[in-house]
Amino acid sequence: MAIEDPIVTGLDSGWAHINASKLSENQTLEADVVIVGSGAGGGVAAEILTEAGLSVIIVEGGQLKSSKDFVMEERVAYPDLYQQAAGMKTTDKAIGIFQGRGVGGSTTVNWTTSIRTPEPALDYWAQTKSVVGLSRTELDPWFEKMEQRLNISKWAYDPNRNNQALKQGCETLGWEHTVIKRNVKGCWNTGYCGMGCPVNAKQSMLVTTIPAALDRGATLVSQAQVIKLEHHNDKIFAVKAQAVDKNMKPMPVEVMFKAKHYILAAGAIHTPSIMLRSKLPDPHEIIGKRTFLHPTLLSGAVFSDPINGHSGAPQSIYSDEFVWQDGADGELGYKLEVPPIHPILIASKTVGYGKSHAQLMEKFNQLQVTIALVRDGYHDNSQGGQVKLTDHGFTLDYPLTDAFWRAARRAYASMAELQFAAGAQQVLPISEGMPYLSSWNEAKKAISEMDLAPLKTVVASAHVMGGCPFGEDPKLAMVNSFGESHYFDNLSVMDGSIFPTSLGANPQLSIYGITARNATRLAERLKPQAS
Ligand SMILES: Cc1cc2nc3c(=O)[nH]c(=O)nc-3n(C[C@H](O)[C@H](O)[C@H](O)COP(=O)(O)OP(=O)(O)OC[C@H]3O[C@@H](n4cnc5c(N)ncnc54)[C@H](O)[C@@H]3O)c2cc1C
Repeated sequence: MAIEDPIVTGLDSGWAHINASKLSENQTLEADVVIVGSGAGGGVAAEILTEAGLSVIIVEGGQLKSSKDFVMEERVAYPDLYQQAAGMKTTDKAIGIFQGRGVGGSTTVNWTTSIRTPEPALDYWAQTKSVVGLSRTELDPWFEKMEQRLNISKWAYDPNRNNQALKQGCETLGWEHTVIKRNVKGCWNTGYCGMGCPVNAKQSMLVTTIPAALDRGATLVSQAQVIKLEHHNDKIFAVKAQAVDKNMKPMPVEVMFKAKHYILAAGAIHTPSIMLRSKLPDPHEIIGKRTFLHPTLLSGAVFSDPINGHSGAPQSIYSDEFVWQDGADGELGYKLEVPPIHPILIASKTVGYGKSHAQLMEKFNQLQVTIALVRDGYHDNSQGGQVKLTDHGFTLDYPLTDAFWRAARRAYASMAELQFAAGAQQVLPISEGMPYLSSWNEAKKAISEMDLAPLKTVVASAHVMGGCPFGEDPKLAMVNSFGESHYFDNLSVMDGSIFPTSLGANPQLSIYGITARNATRLAERLKPQAS
């Protein structure tokens, strides 16, 4: 049975929700804390700050939707729940980027894989990025807290056939592989997480922390796109937002927010964009630079039996065999996972057109897809991308470097080896000009010679990190290791933008745990003192 829709019940109970697109006049709203963004960072911060007795306003550019609006059709889900209708791309269009838009942010549409920040990432930040107090020993209690809060536990059911192939390949080859922990409660195992959970089982911010904050008196203002922060000397004194319609088109009404403290949690592209638009001081020119994507390669494999990769928990097995193989700052490593396989997602992330594309789509139900997520940001030749403002908004310039292409070639080989070991009849590295390959031997040769290039090779990302890094050294970081601004007393950043490199793991649990730590400290600082 579907779990009760907490949004419908909450609204009926009188939650303070303002849909800015319905306002007819400009408004000014005040609270102790204003949080921009309601995703992984914003949601966790909102719950912790309201628990401490602080008044909180959550400002979200997207719409408030709930399970009753999630119809499990890609043509509806992508325009409604994803930024730029899931068609966002880097400046040269070589990397497609998925980001959530709406209350709950990317957590409303994500695939539920929940992994604690890997130790090599934390060690690297401590050694080279001036991050302090974030060893795994110090962070594990926060991960534990969030795992309990969000019902994160090992997936207890059989992997679907798509994930099963990853497991089988790893077992045959003796490669490391792990059962994934997922943030679900009462999951129906349908496989449609990317279109919003229809039964409220996914423990996204939409059904957990945001409702909890609203129950405690927080105000949610949706369809209010934050334009900039107003500031003077070392203080932020207002956040200015514009009402937007459901397609994010600006409407005439402006909303001003005033608070004792401001938190940016708009995600790793928009937090830096807002900072750039606000012309915040940035003497070391850090804002928007070193934005990381885990640029991801895809390998298709045709099996004789049905794979039906649209059905069942999208991700339940991963392999870390190649992530840290050459040390953190050696050659770029890659994590092996699988994606959900839905028709538009696959059609738009494969190559060929006309007949060849139709032939590929004919094999849709027998198609297994493995992905390799490249761990970027640890190598001199992997500086990530840069968020820049344009006349119409922003762009993310992300040059694909030699170090990335070397990793890509190795990743294609690993994926093909794995897929043949799992019993694939044919393997198709998703890069223009590659034929279906019929054996591991044939694949090894073809991949060693294949032409890899932007726009020819399909590269995608659902993980955006960096652009407003944390650390104690202002030459390297915009905020300290607690996410507090180096330049403003009353500004914090709590989202994926604080990571100084990519993580080498799916980001949501890192954001939940680190935000829980940082928001708890902020709550201590701000909470009303008992008299
Ligand atoms: C399809 C998909 C699958 C994924 N699968 C996984 C997974 O399985 N496991 C995992 O760990 N991670 C996964 N991720 C990534 C993970 O969900 C994100 O890393 C995480 O949610 C980022 O948190 P955040 O707080 O930085 O930003 P978000 O969660 O993206 O939240 C940012 C919010 O800010 C809002 N916003 C932006 N600009 C403004 C503005 N100017 N004014 C007001 N509001 C604004 C946005 O609308 C959004 O709601 C996935 C992501 C996607 C898109």
